[in-house]
Amino acid sequence: MEAGKDFIHKIIEEDIQNGSKVVTRFPPEPNGFLHIGHAKSICLNFGLAEEYHSVCHLRFDDTDPTKEDVRYENAIQEDVRWLGFDWQGKLFRASDYFNQFYEFAVQLIKNEKAYVCGLSEEEIRKYRGTVTTDGEISPFFKKHTVEENLDLFKRMKDGEFPDGTYVLRARIDMKSPNMKMRDPLLYRIRHAHHYRTKDQWCIYPMYDFAHPLSDAIEGITHSICTLEFENNRELYDWFLDNIEADFPSRPHQYEFARLDLQSTVMSKRKLLELVENGSVDGWDDPRLPTIAGLRRRGVRAEAIRQFCKLIGVSKANSTVEMGQFEFCLRDDLNTEAPRVMAVLRPLKVIIDNFSSDETEILNAPYWPHDIPKTGSRDLLFTKELYIEQDDFMENPPKDFFRLGPGREVRLRYGYCITCTSVEKDSLGNITAIHCTYDPETKSGNNPVGRKVKGTIHWVSSNCLDATVNLFQPLFLESGELNPNSLEVLRDAKVEISLQESKQGDRFQFERQGYFFAEAPLTFNQIVSLKSSWRPPQAKS
Ligand code: ATP
Ligand code: MG
Repeated sequence: MEAGKDFIHKIIEEDIQNGSKVVTRFPPEPNGFLHIGHAKSICLNFGLAEEYHSVCHLRFDDTDPTKEDVRYENAIQEDVRWLGFDWQGKLFRASDYFNQFYEFAVQLIKNEKAYVCGLSEEEIRKYRGTVTTDGEISPFFKKHTVEENLDLFKRMKDGEFPDGTYVLRARIDMKSPNMKMRDPLLYRIRHAHHYRTKDQWCIYPMYDFAHPLSDAIEGITHSICTLEFENNRELYDWFLDNIEADFPSRPHQYEFARLDLQSTVMSKRKLLELVENGSVDGWDDPRLPTIAGLRRRGVRAEAIRQFCKLIGVSKANSTVEMGQFEFCLRDDLNTEAPRVMAVLRPLKVIIDNFSSDETEILNAPYWPHDIPKTGSRDLLFTKELYIEQDDFMENPPKDFFRLGPGREVRLRYGYCITCTSVEKDSLGNITAIHCTYDPETKSGNNPVGRKVKGTIHWVSSNCLDATVNLFQPLFLESGELNPNSLEVLRDAKVEISLQESKQGDRFQFERQGYFFAEAPLTFNQIVSLKSSWRPPQAKS
């Protein structure tokens, strides 16, 4: 075994040496879209299947009809595929096994290992006791014979009782130090329409009952879940030890630490709330940590997979910094996104000593020297051009190395320009600046003795109008919704070469960040260039 492998790999390799197979599963509940946390589980489970030349099942845990929908199923399938994984036709649903689950429950009743209980939710909680006090057996256990329990369970199934009248419980141990073992619920009554089984069932199995049995029915060997399920493992094993059936495998549950990413919400319940109350533009809003949102933002699947690899799998819960995720995005895009120039908040520059009927072609490479890719495009140097508003200051401090009156700066791939005057409107707002250019300073020529402290990006007057969406974290440090999480810049200008860009293209806008064409000439900022990430403070 190689050193440095995580504990799950170690377990699996040992099992393989002992002749075991590896079949994993990813079991989402179709009650929302997948998020970056799910990606960790997907990369782990499907990744194991790939590594050991096996298969990972996609199984929908559709046991709660009140929250689930086929729309979520479809979105989940799309996201898993987009991440680059394939379930090789092994797509299943807990609901495929509802008949079998029912028969297993009947078997448990016959063996006096399950009973119908008519206590209210409140009473069940009371009887269960606490971590420090024993529970008490429900009076319903003694009240009915096996035959009566079988009859009641059948009548539950047949719809004779309203929701909440009865539940089916396993008879295990009301004194167990593990609360999960104190006669857990197997079935509850829910007169609800299920998106697949329609109105065929009005009793639905609990996750703890359905999950181990689904695993066993499918021949899953390694059932990998997050640490919150550690206490459920004993119950997982109890069902498999107490139900007799000819299962193709005896699965085992292993727990790893869930991904917790700094300052985002990942619970589907909270995501649903944001979607439903209109705080965001649907499940695929680019500000959300959903897979669909990240995709719409422009993140590549490769970057998400690389991120999951980097954070690794362990048994210790911890929070991953957003900076680490952003590092992976930049690292991925560095070799993928050609460099171009865009001015997000334009300020007009007039070059007084350049003739208006002149244009000069400047050739600029798409890639920096350290990236083994070639290609270039032409930029047009024109009398009028645009620079970023914040690359100019009328009264700059000493350490401002960009443009100001009397100061010189280099235009990337172009000439050095010196600001000579400023035009203002009647309100005193700067409307344009006048500059002169030095024809001796064409990029590539390096005149002796010339020192220019700053190089700024620009676009020619021969440019394209674009819309740019900038994103900030959805939440402020205080936990409140950030009112500035989306900033739409409708007056951005991009260089003419982007005329040929298509939806789906990615670029680095020099000095600004990586951008994704969500639509032609509409760009989403994927990630900035600098690792300055921190949750924003509320503006006072
Ligand atoms: P949420 O709490 O976000 O609603 P969930 O656990 O209820 O998530 P499921 O659809 O039940 O969502 O999850 C499917 C699988 O994804 C489970 O095996 C679960 O352990 C795993 N998973 C969910 N969230 C994370 C996470 N943050 N990190 C790693 N795995 C996760
Ligand atoms: Mg769940």
